[in-house]
Amino acid sequence: MQQDCIFCRIAAGETPCFMLYEDEFTAAFMDINPASPGHALAIPKRHFPDLYQLPADLLAATAATAQKVAVAVSAALEPAGLNLVQANGPGAAQSVLHFHLHILPRGDRDGMRLNWGLQPGDMSQIEQIYKCVRARLD
Ligand code: 5GP
Ligand code: ZN
Repeated sequence: MQQDCIFCRIAAGETPCFMLYEDEFTAAFMDINPASPGHALAIPKRHFPDLYQLPADLLAATAATAQKVAVAVSAALEPAGLNLVQANGPGAAQSVLHFHLHILPRGDRDGMRLNWGLQPGDMSQIEQIYKCVRARLD
């Protein structure tokens, strides 16, 4: 547990929240600055700052919790759609450095700045980047 981490304190029951779901390894609760009605967060209880450092089994456990909550949110609110969103680092606007998945219900044409549309890419640039990333997956 990291004392200065708000999500560690929530996981430890030291800071109140609207807790939706808890198991041994994960928790899910309502976001206090909702981007849309029903915005919730799923976290591993142990502190890992981001996706890069999170063990794969805890990623799987947190994703399964997010799925449970998404199904419940979808049944309760019947949103037009729902996104799972996850930020890593300041460039991705991560503000809490404890890994979390956003469960984001969407409204029809809600104007949320998240959708990038479909613009055809430059195939040679895609291939060049592909080779660069692929080389790190061997
Ligand atoms: P990020 O910006 O890191 O992707 O997302 C962090 C999220 O945590 C934000 O949506 C923010 O509203 C939420 N958050 C920050 N502090 C608290 C808190 O004390 N309680 C709850 N429930 N959510 C929080
Ligand atoms: Zn933490």
